[in-house]
Amino acid sequence: MRAMVIGAGVAGPVAALALRRVGWDVTVYEAYADPAGDVGSFVSLGANGLRALAAVGARDAVAARGTAIPLLRLWSGRGRLLGEAARERVTLMRGHLVETLRDLAAGAGAELVTGRRLLDVRDGKAVFDDGTTDAADLVVGADGIHSRLRTIVDPRAATPVYAGLWTVGGRSAHPVEPGAFNITLGGRATFVHAATRHGTLWTAQVPADRPPAGHPTEHLTEHLTEHLTEHLAGLFAGDRSEAVRIIGHTEQWHPFTVFRQLPSTPVVHRGALVLIGDAAHPIGAGQGASLAIEDAVVLAKCLRDGQDLEAFAALRAPRTARMLRTAGANVDAKVAGPLAARVRDVMMPFFFRRFAAKGSAWMYDYDVEWTTPAQA
Ligand SMILES: Cc1cc2nc3c(=O)[nH]c(=O)nc-3n(C[C@H](O)[C@H](O)[C@H](O)COP(=O)(O)OP(=O)(O)OC[C@H]3O[C@@H](n4cnc5c(N)ncnc54)[C@H](O)[C@@H]3O)c2cc1C
Repeated sequence: MRAMVIGAGVAGPVAALALRRVGWDVTVYEAYADPAGDVGSFVSLGANGLRALAAVGARDAVAARGTAIPLLRLWSGRGRLLGEAARERVTLMRGHLVETLRDLAAGAGAELVTGRRLLDVRDGKAVFDDGTTDAADLVVGADGIHSRLRTIVDPRAATPVYAGLWTVGGRSAHPVEPGAFNITLGGRATFVHAATRHGTLWTAQVPADRPPAGHPTEHLTEHLTEHLTEHLAGLFAGDRSEAVRIIGHTEQWHPFTVFRQLPSTPVVHRGALVLIGDAAHPIGAGQGASLAIEDAVVLAKCLRDGQDLEAFAALRAPRTARMLRTAGANVDAKVAGPLAARVRDVMMPFFFRRFAAKGSAWMYDYDVEWTTPAQA
């Protein structure tokens, strides 16, 4: 059997690796040439994502590129520790994650074709932007939030809309205490920072009715970073946090980007076409990459065990829906107005204790259980 995987971001190479493990021939088509090394922003993989990587022998190679951060700390903008939990995670540059996953997939025998963008699927054949075509027993859409395959599977699928937050970040020379992934729910914006092998990585998540006009998503000019430094300093000036100092010592800026969500759940399979990762469910920061990795491994497990795509979709749907609800609630907490923020800061220690103790076990303790048969 042969699979064609569209997209070599996070989900694509993991799907290729997992499918190779269950005996499929795989070709991955990626629109861009290069995963971009240590530029781009960083991602954090939770215990669930790491466990899914371990199932296909990819965990050690990925962990070796990043920094293990054992604690999660949640702060209020007034400098109060709202909660602390032991939360295994590995933080690494997205480019390094993609590079490592692509190497592992290629090492397992998958063919990787870069610089070729899927345009359409016609008469069972994938059509690419250089005029070439290809056909396979299965087409896996791992082509991200702006998935082309999503609209081929379901021509009425909604397009992603702005979710009320824009974000920018970088690597700072300002040293911070290692061992914790810090989230500060500030009065006007959320600040995330952690000490890593690449220095202090930070990101600001800023609520706004609409994203600021005129910001490029890739390369920030010096003029723009000066403007952003000033703007962010203003947003975080009222908080008791290290945000202003960390931002002020930024050595390398990561891309400016906005959070997007799908207004409705798309159809995730039709015939021999199936969607995984952000193509199926853009989830935003925090769990998107981990969920994409889980999808890829569970898909291969289902195919190994003779389950069809319907069974795969049914297996994933409850977890995906719950994750989307949680991600939505997280965004709501970050776009809270000043009054709601006060209430949040008072209630959060209580909720955090409950949440950290057992309420979030469903998220982090999830195991793809690679060695047991897939059951719909
Ligand atoms: C600012 C930000 C921070 C984040 N932080 C985290 C985090 O800390 N932890 C976490 O778990 N998640 C995080 N996420 C989410 C995470 O990045 C995504 O959920 C994850 O990358 C999804 O993987 P994917 O493979 O589905 O899509 P992608 O990683 O987007 O990969 C899709 C690939 O498909 C390619 N492609 C697109 N269209 C085509 C086409 N037509 N033909 C061929 N190739 C195509 C693209 O070039 C790309 O390489 C963050 C997201 C953002 C925006």
